[in-house]
Amino acid sequence: MASVSVRQVEKSYGKTTKVIHGISVDIADGEFCVLVGPSGCGKSTLLRMIAGLEEISAGEILIGDRVVNDVAPKERDIAMVFQNYALYPHMTVRDNMAFSLMLAKREKSEIDKRVNEASSILGLNDYLERFPRQLSGGQRQRVAMGRAIVRNPQVFLFDEPLSNLDAKLRVAMRTEIKALHQRLKTTAIYVTHDQIEAMTMADKIVVLRDGIIEQVGAPLDLYDRPQNTFVAQFIGSPSMNLVAGTVADGAVQLQGGGKVALPSQITFTQGQKITFGIRPEHIQLVSDSSAGQDEITAKVHVIEPTGADTQVVCRLAGDTTGISASANEVVVIARDRVHCNAGDSVKLVPEMGRAHWFDGQTGKRLG
Ligand code: ADP
Repeated sequence: MASVSVRQVEKSYGKTTKVIHGISVDIADGEFCVLVGPSGCGKSTLLRMIAGLEEISAGEILIGDRVVNDVAPKERDIAMVFQNYALYPHMTVRDNMAFSLMLAKREKSEIDKRVNEASSILGLNDYLERFPRQLSGGQRQRVAMGRAIVRNPQVFLFDEPLSNLDAKLRVAMRTEIKALHQRLKTTAIYVTHDQIEAMTMADKIVVLRDGIIEQVGAPLDLYDRPQNTFVAQFIGSPSMNLVAGTVADGAVQLQGGGKVALPSQITFTQGQKITFGIRPEHIQLVSDSSAGQDEITAKVHVIEPTGADTQVVCRLAGDTTGISASANEVVVIARDRVHCNAGDSVKLVPEMGRAHWFDGQTGKRLG
């Protein structure tokens, strides 16, 4: 096992297209690190540079204490698992798993031992003599992981390994991979665009956007203290509500109507543009007649029960000229059954102790 350090790494394709703009991150020995971000943000490029499949335009990558910039992929002691499995169709499961060790000319007894160990860990013992076409998607993905495990690498690299699986299997495999990591404790770097996968699997999440890091942290740190509005909206589902407002007379006048008190620990100036953030589970929905201090009047737009909870999409009821419908929407997650209908007037009461405050211009967290 080994740590991985990425230091001021840049990547340009050709002379003009820079896609990674000087990224630095340290991944500790044994850590499960997830690179997450929207499509095109550079996650795969960064992973492929760590793997040695893509050249680095500037900076350094270390695996353990060795700079690997000029080390060939097969000399880096890493194993990569891809989304399309890349199994050899004409080889059995056993041979698919054994292949890299055979190429490395390992003893047959050692190969058998490692393949048997990996297949026991992955529950593949009954499938060793089958061909990939005789397996389900989940079993194929397990074989792809088996091929990585038999090599006993210093680092596992996963490139969206679950994105070809259906939703239910994805959830099951995500638990399997996490359990596998808890057992093997091999350093892992995992790329996904799915923030739920990132949240549930990672020790450390690196949020990327347009080739830069927006924030690095443990899943719940990112959830509880997003450093900017991008991370605030990217992490968490449904997303954090962000409502634009202006500081006036010790409160924030929200665009779209309603007013909320300012927290005492942050200094605001009169007329300052701010963005008020509140997660859907931190708002209570009350009937229109009750009145409180921090409240927002809204109209129920859509009610979506899932059984366990209910998602209520509301629209602010104030003057909304010049605001798009989505900027004017506030989503509430109610744990109890809700007794309202589309079109009803309601009051939204945010738990102010759990509010987030961002600069209206830069989107950076305040306080
Ligand atoms: P992600 O994995 O986050 O979806 P990628 O790392 O695949 O993003 O791509 C990052 C950016 O680099 C994208 O804008 C993509 O179009 C560009 N890119 C990727 N590979 C190449 C290439 N071989 N030549 C030119 N541009 C590329």
